[in-house]
Amino acid sequence: LPLDFQQALPILKMIEDAGYEAYFVGGSVRDHILGLPIHDVDIATSAYPEEIKSIFKHTIDTGIKHGTVTVLMGDNSYEITTFRTESGYQDYRRPDKVTFVRSLTDDLKRRDFTINALAVDHNGNVVDKFDGLTDLKNHLIKAVGVADERFHEDALRMMRAVRFQSQLNFSIEDKTERAIADNAHLLSKIAVERVHEEFVKMFFGQSWKNGLSDFLRLNLYEYCPGFKDNLHELSKLVKAPNVKMIDETMIWTAIGYVLDLHGEELNHFLRQWKVSNKIREDCLLTENQLINFKNKDFDVWKIYKLGITNIPRVEALCELFNVKINIEQIDNIVSEIPIKNSHSMKITGKDVIDILDIKPGPQIGEYMDILEKAVVTQTVTNTYKDLQRYLLIL
Ligand code: ATP
Ligand code: MG
Repeated sequence: LPLDFQQALPILKMIEDAGYEAYFVGGSVRDHILGLPIHDVDIATSAYPEEIKSIFKHTIDTGIKHGTVTVLMGDNSYEITTFRTESGYQDYRRPDKVTFVRSLTDDLKRRDFTINALAVDHNGNVVDKFDGLTDLKNHLIKAVGVADERFHEDALRMMRAVRFQSQLNFSIEDKTERAIADNAHLLSKIAVERVHEEFVKMFFGQSWKNGLSDFLRLNLYEYCPGFKDNLHELSKLVKAPNVKMIDETMIWTAIGYVLDLHGEELNHFLRQWKVSNKIREDCLLTENQLINFKNKDFDVWKIYKLGITNIPRVEALCELFNVKINIEQIDNIVSEIPIKNSHSMKITGKDVIDILDIKPGPQIGEYMDILEKAVVTQTVTNTYKDLQRYLLIL
């Protein structure tokens, strides 16, 4: 067993000593068998949540209604979920009723894909009820049971298919793929936050171009915000060079770029997708800088305003879109900027008020901007004395 599982073995042991079954399940099992690094170790058990809470001292009710309790153990925490079945999928969304059961097989049956429906016991034996090991070997994403039914139960699974395809560089099995093409429209029933999460994970995957290619080919894109008539534009990303996505801002900026969205249009698009405020703001700045670079506009002030930490992302986007830039030239400009941000200014708004003997108000901010620009463009050195002198001759 890998170290992550070994560390969690005492948990399995304690549950078993109390008379219940417990297994490692889900993504960690899949990733372990593939030889990939494991992130969260998830545990499934026949014990009910209250029973788990009586076995362990330190627990958190993470999702107790759905059977999940988090157990804290040393520096680690583990999500322990009671075996369950799901029913009453209304509107093609998540189930509104979960039933706790004592059978591992029933629990594995409700999982999305065969490669995610494997369990490992305390001896390292793999429980494989749906031929997940074969599919892992053949690099196939295949629905557990009848694909069509599974996507009716929860349409998000279709997005998860392209997400895993990208992350693992697998293919989607034929019947599963056909079922996606047949049911793509059900994606419109799913909350945009959930689609967003899988969509972004798809782009972070090593083979995002494969995932994206099927996302387009199987018509999932039509049922996502702002994509409907943009197959041609989105396909440009599939044809782009295989550049790794640095962060979520890079992903959304890239999409905005192929859709030719700028300013308020881009803002609106990102709001539709419920992109966070911070990332939305960064996208608008990044998009701006990308266009500047494209137009060979290397203004020091603009580069500075973008935020120096955002430069690597713009450089990666330039690579993605074949925007020829002289990275050395940009890096030189950046390295010569004397300050990182306005906090490094050796003069404050309060100083400006005192020096000019004026009342507080919006013009203070304007003076501060002028001073900051003067420092950034090396018109003035960043010392109180020089800034004071500059301010007085403005
Ligand atoms: P990751 O490595 O990204 O965490 P994961 O396989 O662990 O991948 P999770 O979203 O963490 O994915 O879900 C954990 C497990 O729960 C999955 O492996 C799968 O067995 C099951 N699961 C998650 N979401 C669904 C779903 N929508 N339908 C059916 N089973 C699901
Ligand atoms: Mg997981």
